[in-house]
Formats: sequence, C-alpha cells, structure tokens
Amino acid sequence: MRRLFANGWVVTMDDAGTECPDGWVLVEDGAIAAVGDGEEPPAAAGLERIDLGGAVVTPGLVNTHHHLCQTLTRARAQQADLFTWLRELYPLWASLDAEAEYAAARTGLAELALSGCSTVFDHHYVFPRGRDGIVEAEVQAARELGVRIVASRGSMDLGVSDGGLPPDTLVEELDAILADTQRLHSTLHEPGPGARVQIAVAPCSPFSVTGRLMEESAELARRLALPLHTHLAETVEEEAYCRELYGCSPVEYLDRLGWLDGDVWCAHCVHLSPAEVARFAATGTGVAHCPSSNLRLGAGIAPVRDLLDAGGRVGLGVDGSASNERSDLFMEVKQALLVARGRGGPAVMTAREALRLGTRGGAAVLGRADIGALESGKQADLAVWAVDGLELGGAEDLVAGLVFAGPHRVERLVVGGEDVVRGGALVRADEAEIARAHRVQARRLTP
Ligand SMILES: [Zn+2]
Repeated sequence: MRRLFANGWVVTMDDAGTECPDGWVLVEDGAIAAVGDGEEPPAAAGLERIDLGGAVVTPGLVNTHHHLCQTLTRARAQQADLFTWLRELYPLWASLDAEAEYAAARTGLAELALSGCSTVFDHHYVFPRGRDGIVEAEVQAARELGVRIVASRGSMDLGVSDGGLPPDTLVEELDAILADTQRLHSTLHEPGPGARVQIAVAPCSPFSVTGRLMEESAELARRLALPLHTHLAETVEEEAYCRELYGCSPVEYLDRLGWLDGDVWCAHCVHLSPAEVARFAATGTGVAHCPSSNLRLGAGIAPVRDLLDAGGRVGLGVDGSASNERSDLFMEVKQALLVARGRGGPAVMTAREALRLGTRGGAAVLGRADIGALESGKQADLAVWAVDGLELGGAEDLVAGLVFAGPHRVERLVVGGEDVVRGGALVRADEAEIARAHRVQARRLTP
C-alpha cells in the first residue's frame, strides 16, 4: 500500500531538526519511503494522495512510562504523597484480573492514541496470585486499537513483613517472576524493527523489590536482549528509605546492583545530585520524565535540562492514571516545557525541544531506532494536528503554537502506515463503548 500525506507542515525530528512547511510524507508498506518539501512525487496508479490542508505533521508520540491498570482507580488518595497513595491503592489493585486489565488498557490506550501517541510502554507490576493473562489482555487491546506496545512483566517480591511497602499478599516468588518473564518473551516479543509488541523486564522499585530480584532481572533481560526498567528517585521519602535500608541514595543503590547502562531507563529521577546526572549520562541510562504525575504527588521536578546538557537520554511518560488522571502525552509535552521553565527560567527549554522529548527522545529511551522521527526507512508512525481551531488563531509559528496551546485531540494518527485515528475519532473501536465497558469493570474492581 502506497500513501502520500501531502500539503502539511512536516516536523521530521531528524538530527538537524528539519521542518518542511510545504511538506509531504510518502509511505510504502508501513514504512516511510521519502519525505520532502515542495514538489510532490507524481500521481501514480495505486498511490493514495491525502491532502492535509496545511496541518502540522509530527512523528507519533512515544510514551515511556504508564500503568494502564490505574485507569480503574482514578481520583483516590487526592492529597497523598507517594507512599501514602500506594498504601491506599494496593488493596484495590489486588482485585485486578485479565478482564479488568483489558478494559483498563483499552481506555488508557485509546486516550493515548487520541493524544497522538503511537507507541506505549506499560509498566505493569501487579500480578495477584492465580490471575492469569494480564499482560496478554493489554497486548490484545493494543493490537485491536492499532498502537504499538512495549509491555513489561514487572514484579514485586519485597512485602511489608520483610521491610517493603506492598502488602505480602501482592508480592510474588522470585523464580515464578523470572519464569513468567521468559514465557512472555517467547510467546509475545517481536525483536523489531517495526515491532508492534515487545516485552520489557521491569521490577517495580527499590522499596518493593529485593536486591536479588533486581540483579537477576538485569541478568535475564541482558540474556534475552530485552529492555530493563524501574522506578527511581521519585520522592524524598524514597531517598530516606534507601539511605536507611541500603546506606546510599537510590541511584547509588542501582549502580551497585549493576543496573546503570544503555539498555536501562528509569521513571521519574526527580531527586538526582549533579554527580548522579553525570553518571546517568556517562552510562547511557535513560529517564522517563513524568511531569504531571510528579506535580500531582508533590514529588518535585526532575532536572531535565541538566540531563540533556550532560548528553542523557530523556523521554516523556504520562505515568499511571491514578497519579495523572489524564493519559494525554501531548499534555506532557507542554507540561515538560512549563516545569523546565518553572525550575530554570524561560530560556531553558524551547517548545520544539519539548516536542522532541515526546517523540525522538522517547524512541531513544525505549531503544527504538525505527520510530520517533519522520525519515526514510523509519516506521510510518505519524500524528497529524489540525491548525484551524480557535486556540491557534494568531499563531504564525504553528509548531510552537501547538505546544504552547496544548493539549489537543489529534486529527489523524497513523501507525505503520495504517489509520488508528481519523477525523479525531478512533478508527477501529468505539470510544463510548470503551468508556461504558470500563465503568463496569471499575465498579467490579472497587465496589
Ligand atoms: Zn510509575
């Protein structure tokens, strides 16, 4: 199938930051065949020309941290810090099963797709005993909606009776965790490029996972060539917990376990010393920056400008829907811009740099060279943004205008050359039906 997306302002996110104000993108068999400015490829039999009417075209956004299951438990623990919030929510999550996860994933993935997001990493770590098929359920939801998913087989094995935060009923045995991770790798993981489903290894956090599971997870991930992920340095309480239990900061703890490397990315990284920022950059360890969640829980603001200046990899995440009730990645683009400026002043980040974090940055964090930019040979993952609405009136610079005026419902989302959103609506699913089914499951989970 050949498609020509023509008459758009194409923001390529290539190394040079090339933009084509009179641009077009030629797609063949799910990949980008060519990108240009001005004169289009000639009409030909079998070539579908789609006139974008001057809309802005960006790479599909890439979400680097989420917990889709949390769409079922929004707006709880409204004034709580992270540890208090977790203690209130763990008992609710203990009822999760595949049916509820499927409904949760459809909701979160639909929200993300409608915000222009074509690739979603989900950090799932809640596996109540005897409930099978949870990761399979979210993968099924992603396949049906048409977005790419990197699904983690996360884990917790440090219960409250051993000094951890989660209840003992919600932690698993180390051997069972690793065996299930191997099973999901062999049944679901596509090595790529162009992969629509990948598996990541993702023990939850320093306060819910033993050091031994952290080490063995890293060993397994590296043996299977899977990406490796965890939460890190999110709050001052976590810092105090690590100092008390391990005698060092969370980053030093992870370093000691042999984690920091180019195949790893960590969520949050709010509390990093200058030396730890340098260590992240030197080792190539990536960061999933989740500004709305960090603000919602009052955790602080990550030193993103410092990480970028040091040469670090940084992408954006919406984080779970119980600590950021809105799964809108374009909102995180804007939020990243605003919090960077709140921390360091108006000159520290441009609108285009924020957009780069949400596209190219996210792809780099997930270790995906095949997405995140509109260049020949990359996957045809495109987000088309209408520019004729009220909020962009008077904006000459439409790209910066989009970021400053965000968030927006995406006009069209293309993943692997195929429409996932068209005319601001899901192509393969009914939004109202997803919302109805989700409410039934949310009530079942939290009576
Ligand atoms: Zn998280």
